[in-house]
Amino acid sequence: MIIAIDGPSGAGKSTVSKSVAKNLGFSCLDTGAMFRCVAWQAAQLGVSLEDADKLGEIARDYEISFGHEAGDPAPKQVFMGGVDVTDQIRTAEIDRAVSAVASVPAVREALLEQQRRIGNAGDYVVDGRDIGTVVFPNAQVKVFLTASAEERARRRVAQNLERGVGSTDYEEVLADIVARDEADTNRATAPLRPAEDATHIDSTSFTIEEVIDQICKLAEAARAN
Ligand code: C5P
Repeated sequence: MIIAIDGPSGAGKSTVSKSVAKNLGFSCLDTGAMFRCVAWQAAQLGVSLEDADKLGEIARDYEISFGHEAGDPAPKQVFMGGVDVTDQIRTAEIDRAVSAVASVPAVREALLEQQRRIGNAGDYVVDGRDIGTVVFPNAQVKVFLTASAEERARRRVAQNLERGVGSTDYEEVLADIVARDEADTNRATAPLRPAEDATHIDSTSFTIEEVIDQICKLAEAARAN
């Protein structure tokens, strides 16, 4: 079974995905991490964000893989071409670059193949922007998770403080979130938008536990069908 969780930056997708996966015995696939890997590799190689051909080549040529600890559905590490980039892909620099990389059709095409290969190998909670619309349009459960930009910025700052990576300046984080919402929603290929059959959950007024519970119930209902 695939549970697709889409929504804008900072809506709580990754926290929610990990808990839902743990409760249901599923694995997790964070597709945003894959776009971040391509943005990181481009920066390493000095490739311009305007160079769509080179960005596509990077997405095709480098293998992205995840390191798991036994019994944990959420990967602890992310590797790009064998290099551990777990923390490097969460910096403010990558936050700023990633939406441009994700708007390149050749990048999306290369990552789409990898996303489908990974997700089809088992029961997965997959989070991203286009999972219910493009990557897994037949997912049994589709959720569109949102929250106000201010609430998302507050949560992202708290998460960055905890991780010790990324910006902890509220105004900077809020500006990044608003800019990425705009870029992700308005791009031509696979824009951020809810699937027609997605369940909308606005997490501004719910606790994370309530959101997790709602999604687990949707999965149980889908399983029973
Ligand atoms: O989820 P996260 O914030 O890590 O995603 C980083 C960026 O990757 C997003 O802002 C978006 O531009 C891109 N992305 C995407 N499609 C996905 C997942 C992420 O375009 N399925």
